[in-house]
Parts: sequence; structure tokens; C-alpha cells
Amino acid sequence: MRNEPSVLEASLRKDTFDEVSLGFSKQQVMAEADRCLKCKSQPCVTSCPVHVDIPTFLAQIKQDKVDDALATILKTNPLPGVCGRVCPQESQCEAACVLTKVNKAVNIGQCERYVADHGTWTSTKKKAINKKVAVVGAGPAGIACAYTLSNAGISVDIYDSWDQMGGVLRYGIPDFRLPKAVVDLEIDRLMNELITFKKNTVVGKTITLDQLKQQQVDAIFIASGAGLPEFVEMEHSDAIGVFSANEFLTRINTFSAHLDDHDTPLYPMKKTIVIGGGNVALDAARCALRLNVDVCIAYRRTINRMPARLAEVEHALDEGIEVKECLSPKAVIVDEHYKMTGILFQPTKFVMVDGKERVVEDVEQQPIIIEADSCIVAVGTSPNPLFNSTLPQLKLNKWHSIEVDEHLESSIPMVYAGGDAVLGSATVIAALGQGKKAALSIIAKLC
Ligand code: FAD
Ligand code: SF4
Repeated sequence: MRNEPSVLEASLRKDTFDEVSLGFSKQQVMAEADRCLKCKSQPCVTSCPVHVDIPTFLAQIKQDKVDDALATILKTNPLPGVCGRVCPQESQCEAACVLTKVNKAVNIGQCERYVADHGTWTSTKKKAINKKVAVVGAGPAGIACAYTLSNAGISVDIYDSWDQMGGVLRYGIPDFRLPKAVVDLEIDRLMNELITFKKNTVVGKTITLDQLKQQQVDAIFIASGAGLPEFVEMEHSDAIGVFSANEFLTRINTFSAHLDDHDTPLYPMKKTIVIGGGNVALDAARCALRLNVDVCIAYRRTINRMPARLAEVEHALDEGIEVKECLSPKAVIVDEHYKMTGILFQPTKFVMVDGKERVVEDVEQQPIIIEADSCIVAVGTSPNPLFNSTLPQLKLNKWHSIEVDEHLESSIPMVYAGGDAVLGSATVIAALGQGKKAALSIIAKLC
């Protein structure tokens, strides 16, 4: 039987941002590691975007060598406590686990989290070589790149517009899924004498690329993420009470706007509709619930097609959040002050086009209105345009993502890019993988 971690009871979660999943006990992690068959073909490793040596770290857990297990994971994944909590394992390593054919997959994510939370690891002193790289963006991609470069003796200046490192891990994902203490601990573990964090620096504004180059850098890695919110096309989408999920989550996660002793304001919402079906939509809905707001999610498809992590969908439903399926927003209904009072939705249906399933509006059904004083839009984000717009030579694709070759080098020689800035809004592990890959390409050129 697959072991599952205990969780904070749903009735207790409504007023607290405390972490929901409580992780494995020692007994549980030992039992779960014992389920691994140590397959020769290692399909779990192949399916992990950064190829963590899963069978080896599970065997080390079994031998009660948690510190060794941590060292094994850190060889390929610098943020195991983060990934153990937020990676969509059910569609990656666990989906490939051979045990799914006879039973349920090994709970690899929870084992990884246990190791990260309980293992200790000491960084070895780095020997500097005379090379320097500038990294723009201190999210997972930038962190993985800086860490890998520093291990090769390359000095790194890592710039971010925020005053702390972490990117979306810090200002996007709420504490009840990823406590800030975990983000702090993992970043502290990676920082070393060769990495300098340059905070509060908006590259492209506070400092230009030319100024960066004047600091004798041998290469640049752009990891500026995809923080520009997209909005749905609906009438009156600029009405008072309509927000992007990014804004809503940043106000809460970064500026604690929901707390009385903090100055950042929060719109006084009583009933809100979250539009979307990904992790961001669920995070926004679950934050709203914790602020005592009556919240529902409106999604174009059915619940089982939501792209969010399975565990988060289950947790949201347990918390009593209603998902209204197969609805496409058409118009925000406003009062005489241009304040939102509801949203008009057209029901949708699935049709097959060229062998592919498509969602279209079902015009045979009557539109419906859901009354609410606010709406949080979570339908995706695109790459941050600010830095890229200052570099006319930088080639972008039609979605404004940076174009790179197979080594992650952009159209400007020795300027590399990765993470959401290249992939569009993707995942933490994909960003980590690209950060590492770019670092290895840079090392191959410089060393
Ligand atoms: P980011 O994390 O966005 O970091 C980019 C950094 O660059 C930021 O700190 C930004 O301030 C900085 N920056 C941008 N422009 C400049 C500039 N000009 N100068 C200086 N600094 C700059 N993924 C999962 O795998 N699982 C999940 O459960 C999950 N949940 C999510 C929930 C939310 C609410 C959001 C928003 C995303 C979620 N994701 C999840 C996606 C994941 O967080 C991202 O794919 C990942 O953080 C991308 O990493 P990155 O390093 O490319 O970019
Ligand atoms: Fe173990 Fe599953 Fe990986 Fe096989 S596929 S080595 S059982 S985790």
C-alpha cells in the first residue's frame, strides 16, 4: 500500500495559512522507500526532468542514511524541499513508476520532501577561477544556474528586482503549500562565497545590459520568468473588482495585505469568482477562502482536466471550494459606479477537431450569471517584457518568449536564457533543469 502523509484537517484550514500537508513520519518514509523495486531500467529517473537518482536515494533512506540521500538528490536538484512539495510528480516520475501497473506508484515526492526536511548537508569551499557570470532573476532557474556555475568555481552576481531570492516560490505560491521558511532554508543551503545577491535591481531600468557588461562579465543568463498576467477577453474586463491572480497573490504572500498591521490594501471582497484551472487559480481561490471570502472557481473544462496538481485540486475540494465546470466568461456585469456585480458565462462543450478534443461555446445552452463583487483572473502569464524590450537584438518568438538554441544560448552571443522566460509559464523543476543546462553550456565555453 502506498503511504500518504497526514494533512491538516480541512475544517481547521479555513482561517490559517499553515502548511496543509504534514509530511511523512520516519516510519512512513522507511515503509515507502521499502516499496521501491530498484528497477534496472529506472523509468522514474528518465521521467524526472532533472534525472534525480531516485532508486539510490530511496535505498539510502532504507539504510537510514538520510544525509547521504540528501547529497544524492542535491547532485541534480538544488531545491528538493521545494520540489517535494510542489512538483507534479503524478505526471512525471511517479507516472513512470513500474508499481503503477500493479499498485500505486512509490510516493517519491513525499520521500524527497522528508529527506530535504531532515537531512543535513555541508557545502564544500569553492575554489574560484577568474570568470564571472551575471544572472538576471533569482527564481528557480537563476538559482540553479548560479549554484551550478559556482560549483565550477565561477563567480556569479545574481540580480533581482525584489529584495529576496526565490522568484515565484516566494511571491506566488502561498505558505499553506510552500512555507517561506522552506524557501529560505533551501536558498541558504545553496548560497556560497562565489554567489553575490544584488537585490532591488531591475535590470533594464536600474542597470542596463551595457552597464552589466562593463562589470567584466563573461556571460549573462536571463531567468526573468513569466510574470505578465494574461486576461480573458470579456466585456468590462477592466471593471472595479477584477484582478489578476498575480496581483492578488503578491499582495497576500509578499505584502501580507490581509493582516491588519500591514499597510498594503486589499479590495474588500465578499464573494469572488476565480477564472482558471491551474495551480495559480487554485492558490488564489484557497487564499480567498482563508480570508473568509465566499469563493468559487469557474473553469472552461471539467475538473478532471484541470492542469493543477492533483493533490491541490483534492485539497481545494476538501476545503469546500466549488468548481463550476464548463463555463466560458463573456462579460463582467457592472453597476452605475462601474463596480462588478457578477459575470455572464456561456456554457461550453467538447468537440473533436482533426482528431483533437477542443472546447467550444455551447450556444444551444442559455448563458448563466454568477453574482459576485469580484473576480480573480488566472488564465496564464507571459514572459516579463521589461528587460527583453531593452534588447532589440534579442530574438523573441510570437509568445514573447526568448528564442534559444539547444545550448540555451540566445540570439546574442554569450547571453543565455531559461526557465519561464523561455518556456512561458511552466514548472519549478523545468526552470531548475534549464538553469542547470545553461550553466553547463556556459562552463563548457568558459572553462
Ligand atoms: P520566476 O520564479 O518567475 O523568477 C523570475 C525572477 O526574475 C523574479 O524573482 C523576478 O522578480 C525577476 N525579474 C524579472 N525581471 C527582472 C529584471 N528586469 N531585473 C531583475 N529581476 C527580474 N510550478 C510547479 O512546478 N508546481 C506548482 O505547484 C506551481 N505553482 C505555482 C503557483 C503560482 C501562484 C505561480 C505563479 C506559479 C506556479 N508554478 C508552479 C510555476 C513555477 O513557479 C514557475 O514555473 C517557476 O517559478 C519559474 O521559475 P523562473 O526562475 O523561470 O522564474
Ligand atoms: Fe523504484 Fe518506481 Fe523508480 Fe522502479 S520506477 S526504481 S519502483 S521508484
